[in-house]
Amino acid sequence: MRILVVEDDINLNRQLAEALQEAGYVVDTASDGEEGHFLGDTEPYDAVILDIGLPEMDGITVLEQWRKAGRTMPVLLLTARDRWSDKVAGIDAGADDYVAKPFHLEEVLARIRALIRRAAGHASSEIVCGPVHLDTKSSKVTVSGATLKLTSHEFRLLSYLMHHMGEVVSRTELVEHMYDQDFDRDSNTIEVFVGRLRKKLGIDLIETVRGLGYRIQPPAANSGAQPAAHAD
Ligand code: CA
Repeated sequence: MRILVVEDDINLNRQLAEALQEAGYVVDTASDGEEGHFLGDTEPYDAVILDIGLPEMDGITVLEQWRKAGRTMPVLLLTARDRWSDKVAGIDAGADDYVAKPFHLEEVLARIRALIRRAAGHASSEIVCGPVHLDTKSSKVTVSGATLKLTSHEFRLLSYLMHHMGEVVSRTELVEHMYDQDFDRDSNTIEVFVGRLRKKLGIDLIETVRGLGYRIQPPAANSGAQPAAHAD
């Protein structure tokens, strides 16, 4: 999962980025509205943390432009504590949630987890596929109750596929959501990670869809029922 942080307070920007990275996300950062707008407009993010008071272009305008251009990623706004009008303007502009400054990093992390989950159609913090349980809160994966030891790349890959259960996910898409903008990307490595994951999982969970990518089928698919959340 890949997150964009747009915040002009350098310390806060760094704290957010570090906390998110520790939680297993890949993070890109921007320190003004124009750069932030450009990144959010051109890169695929699973969620964005957007400050309202920004140089060059304010957060509300950034958000309005993204939404006007059809960018639908979940956006968490950072607002000043006493500015209720900012919250209203933010939600009207298309924000999914907000946190008032000053905040606890834990709260931001919890809200980001919830936004990513809900955007993928999952209501609970645990994503389950047969014997495989992925706890988005602790970033732990178990198979039939046994904890898997995964590297951060393996976890990101599995997490992305499980969040998007039932969808065919291309290697390019996986690369885009597993690495930050500065990383030297090579989609061949995805195959290696999938191979290792399959070995660790020990069950037939990740399906190769020839020429298209990979898919984890929700258990319900076997009985012919398709989940409504992924109807497209
Ligand atoms: Ca600011």
